[in-house]
Amino acid sequence: MSDKRAYRVLKFGGSSVASATAMSGVLDIVEKEAALGRVILVSSAISGCTDALLGGNADALEAIRQRHAAIVRRLFTGHLRTRVQERVDSLFEELAAAPSDEKVTFGELLSTTILEEKLRAEGYDVLWLDSRELVVSGNEPETFRRIAAAVSASSAQVFVAPGFICRDASGKVSTLGRGGSDYSAALYAAAVNAASLQIWTDVPGIMTANPKQVPAARTIPVMSYSEAFTMADSGAKVLYAPTVAPAMAAGIDIEIRNTFAPAGAFTVIGKESAGSKVGVASSPDGIALVGSIADDDILAAREALLEAGISPLEVVPSSGKCVFKVKPIVEEKALRAIHNAFFVKPSSREIPVFIAGYGAVGKALADAIGRGADSIAEKTGKKLVVAGIASSRRFSINLSGLPVLEPTDPGNFVEEVCRVAPRGAVFVDATSSETIWKDYERIMARGINIVSSNRRSLSVPYADYAAMHAAARENGVYFRYETTVGAALPILESISRGAFGSDEILSLEAVVSCTLNRILDEYVPGDRSFASLVYDAWTEGLTETNPALDLGGRDALRKLLILVREAGVHIDVQNVDVQPLIPQTMNAMSPEEFWNALEAMEPTFSEAASAAARNGRKLRYVARYNAAIAGGRAAGADAMRSAAPGETSAKSVPGYATIGLQAVAPEHPAYYLKGTENAIIVRSALKPYPLLIKGPGEGALEAASSILSDILR
Ligand code: ASP
Ligand code: MG
Repeated sequence: MSDKRAYRVLKFGGSSVASATAMSGVLDIVEKEAALGRVILVSSAISGCTDALLGGNADALEAIRQRHAAIVRRLFTGHLRTRVQERVDSLFEELAAAPSDEKVTFGELLSTTILEEKLRAEGYDVLWLDSRELVVSGNEPETFRRIAAAVSASSAQVFVAPGFICRDASGKVSTLGRGGSDYSAALYAAAVNAASLQIWTDVPGIMTANPKQVPAARTIPVMSYSEAFTMADSGAKVLYAPTVAPAMAAGIDIEIRNTFAPAGAFTVIGKESAGSKVGVASSPDGIALVGSIADDDILAAREALLEAGISPLEVVPSSGKCVFKVKPIVEEKALRAIHNAFFVKPSSREIPVFIAGYGAVGKALADAIGRGADSIAEKTGKKLVVAGIASSRRFSINLSGLPVLEPTDPGNFVEEVCRVAPRGAVFVDATSSETIWKDYERIMARGINIVSSNRRSLSVPYADYAAMHAAARENGVYFRYETTVGAALPILESISRGAFGSDEILSLEAVVSCTLNRILDEYVPGDRSFASLVYDAWTEGLTETNPALDLGGRDALRKLLILVREAGVHIDVQNVDVQPLIPQTMNAMSPEEFWNALEAMEPTFSEAASAAARNGRKLRYVARYNAAIAGGRAAGADAMRSAAPGETSAKSVPGYATIGLQAVAPEHPAYYLKGTENAIIVRSALKPYPLLIKGPGEGALEAASSILSDILR
């Protein structure tokens, strides 16, 4: 004991020893520390074990037995494996025979037996210490004497001791209470006047809040013994409160470190204070804001709660903290509100963006945010960070503020986003999924905004479309999808402003099918066949996988629905008169049949184009909506508005929502469209001239910039 430098006490929690892989991590840490001095390793039971022992459920116990066997199988080979498994088996036999109040002590006996054997197999001189003989609950001086004597009598390099378990004053085997292994470690450290006391757990130290509840929580690098005690005593699970006193009395710093990121951030508990505000912790008693709390702080916390729609039931200030009692159902929300008011600086308030879809658009967006984040922050005060990316199979999420670059993990992205994303985050749907919209409401219910470039999500039945908008309003989030029509062109915004302002939209004309625009623009009868131009577009990936869908007007139909709905009209697919370029029967053809049939239609296309040319016109595929005049009858928007979604039929009043080929004259803005350009013309009651929006309707960069402006608007 003479050389203070000699002892390093390392305590590992249940998740740090939960599996063979986790235990291997423990061995790496021990190896480094053993190079600096003698190590006393204190361990918890493997995670879930103590609960299983207390519960006494036969299936749960069997599962625990299997997990230990699996660890032994993975860590040992040959006759050593047999021996260790025999020791484990005999502990399970003892457990079965033990008095019921002692059964709970076997978890730590099991974990430390395996660790002891493994360290010895690695070549260390190891001594297992029986905490039941050394730790006397309620009698620290006696405990220190016994530990010091046991350790100094040995020449071992590494000691392994079970945490949690002890003997009580009457001599009965007992425990130090749930989570008590931390306290065991502090007792060992104080007894040998250790140079270092390290509590290895599964989070990066003590954080400003439990990161499982508050994703924006960050590590508190230093804090005082009393601050640490208050955090632990107020519900911070990362540390068992009684641990602090013996370490403080002995003047030993406590380090709280992460077994799963040993080189990452950690907390040092010692003499130095964290500052005036330390962190927040929650327990059944309420939410504790820890630190020196002035009246102003209480006001600020109240305000943050009110802003989140929560009125505290009671506020109880005391020394070193102030407790806010709230209804259990809003506890997590309240925790975040108070935490973010004190520990997230407004200037550095980051908006995490989660991007579903790792195609050209998703990548371009991630890129644009990565490159532009700083200048965007300067201009708008909003610091965007790509916190998640998903392809159809894999995803990555990282809330640390370091941008995510590539999807790597299998799993359910939406579920994970809903679990970890803070309110105010943004979920971007840059997929072309037909079903992802079904998750929108759930995402919005978590206070997460949605920006979509996926027009399939917006061309769902009107009732579902309306429900998504209602969910956005109810949850106070935004739901924007400017990109779904005409990429970066500000089309929807222009329409909704007109429609919901005092003006009334009379008609919309949209030439928005990029694929068809290009094909029709290139087509000159007698030159290359129409089919061959479609074929080119198809090989370039400009069409749907099945090109019949483009020629059938599917894409234009989706866009028209979105446009017209934006004008406040309850429109559904069956309200639109779609005149496809090819017969329906071609949808189901094999590729070979399809291309042959399309080639055979050449006379039809060539006739139409030649007729148009004779009149000085050009063919365009146009989507139109007319609110006032419908096939000579006054119906239009009101007919749609008054009917329940899905009940009306445009077929009975043909002409007010149509999609089809049209020969346009040079006066028409669509006459001069080039390539994949889009044009939309809006006529409204109050304006003498139509509004015309024209420009690039396509491209990953355009789409990305449009999504960005939806986020920042
Ligand atoms: N295994 C005990 C418990 O779960 C002690 C500990 O992990 O600190 O409470
Ligand atoms: Mg524990």
